[in-house]
Amino acid sequence: MDNSEKQNAGLQLDPYLESPKSFHLKMPLYHTFDLSIGAVAEKVYEFLCFSGTIDAYCIWCDKESVFDTQEYVYSITYGEWKKSVGFRRNMYQCSRNSNHQYFIYYLKTKENLLKIGQWPSIADFQIPQAEKYRKILGEEEYKEFTRGIGIAVHGVGIGSFVYLRRVFENLIEEAHIMAQAENKEFSNNEYLNARMDKKIKMVKDYLPEFLVENRSLYAILSTGIHDLTEDECLQYFETVKIGIEQILDERIIQKEKADKATKAREAIQKIHGKLANSK
Ligand SMILES: [Zn+2]
Repeated sequence: MDNSEKQNAGLQLDPYLESPKSFHLKMPLYHTFDLSIGAVAEKVYEFLCFSGTIDAYCIWCDKESVFDTQEYVYSITYGEWKKSVGFRRNMYQCSRNSNHQYFIYYLKTKENLLKIGQWPSIADFQIPQAEKYRKILGEEEYKEFTRGIGIAVHGVGIGSFVYLRRVFENLIEEAHIMAQAENKEFSNNEYLNARMDKKIKMVKDYLPEFLVENRSLYAILSTGIHDLTEDECLQYFETVKIGIEQILDERIIQKEKADKATKAREAIQKIHGKLANSK
């Protein structure tokens, strides 16, 4: 890689350099930036000094809110950014209530910048947002899903992939059970001996479209568990998690639609019965 390639790769490969929000609020603890890459150092500096607002979920309001930059506390000397070594705290405040505050802590060494703390933790912040999946996942799976999120934010990459893969496999298994129950011609032997890609195709009528289209998610999860490093898994965690959420969102919509149809059908029959009886 020549220097400009290294610069570009450093920026593109890091999902936490996408926006101030992903940098401050989504980045897992101990995520480290190599400041010897000029483009990375520049972006990191820009986000550290970011003074605009961030749209984010507020755990106290229990909904999306706008957060204002409130303060920096730091021992990093500004003019000497490149040479400086020190500690920094950023604070964001919910615009609805000034007691709703997020704190993020960073450590700057000569070569690196790393996140060393966040309060409330990313898990505190992400798990309430996962709550809406509780019903669709069921208690056991919901626990695995949130455990995956919980350990990823503490810098455990491979382990978090194990939990996400289990959530994914359970979704496929549910579809498998339905496909078996509803189709007499379903070849269970063929299914059991097939690779995941083929399995998904065989039960695709019972799966959210997004999952079928993006079934390579499973390959990413499996590669993660067997071949990727902790850091690589953490780097891809957010993308994989969003993929799974997308699948769950689609399931929720399907279920709401089905529930609404059932209710409407019952209500129509009731009225129809009443009208028929009154005649
Ligand atoms: Zn709030």
